[in-house]
Amino acid sequence: MSEQGCWHCGHPSEDSLFCQYCNHLLRPTPDYYKFFDLPRTLSLDPAELQQRFYKMSRLLHPDRYTRTPNVERQYSLEATAILNDAYRTLRDPLARAEYVLREHGFDIGEQRTKDVPPELLEEVFELNMALEELRGGDEDARGPLEASEKKFIAMRDEVDARLEQLFKRYDEAPSPEAAHEVLTEIRGVLNRRRYIRNLVDTVHKELAVAH
Ligand SMILES: [Zn+2]
Repeated sequence: MSEQGCWHCGHPSEDSLFCQYCNHLLRPTPDYYKFFDLPRTLSLDPAELQQRFYKMSRLLHPDRYTRTPNVERQYSLEATAILNDAYRTLRDPLARAEYVLREHGFDIGEQRTKDVPPELLEEVFELNMALEELRGGDEDARGPLEASEKKFIAMRDEVDARLEQLFKRYDEAPSPEAAHEVLTEIRGVLNRRRYIRNLVDTVHKELAVAH
């Protein structure tokens, strides 16, 4: 919401991209959900999002602003940058969840990925042993590593299914407190997922190397 109203006609402006009175482009909101005029849910229909993205890309095409006042051209550039960032973020469920977490004041730093989730301790221990053996030239370690990789990929898929459930629970949360609780759980699951992804990447890389 801009307090001064529309730069062109002075009417108070809502959180829309264009003035409802004179149809000029307004200062774009940096809020990804408001920008796309979407409800603040974690579950999003990708087709719907894509449709809005295409529509806004057309509306913001530089050709439409070659003869407009500087201020409007400037807004069109800002809006295009936001459009691309917002689309990249919201279409990816993980980036979307991180965006919402950050908005709610959660710290989502990478440093927590160093902690092994307790239920994975044993698996990770065995994996690291096999990695050491392979690095030391023991080709017999290849089989167990491949099995580990498969197991961790399956775990990652489970985590993704769990996230999908949590997104729904967040969207249907009966109170802000309940929503916050779900977000806390989502943050934990995201950390776990990041940890598993790093493991899969490490194993994958190591298996690709000839020892
Ligand atoms: Zn206006």
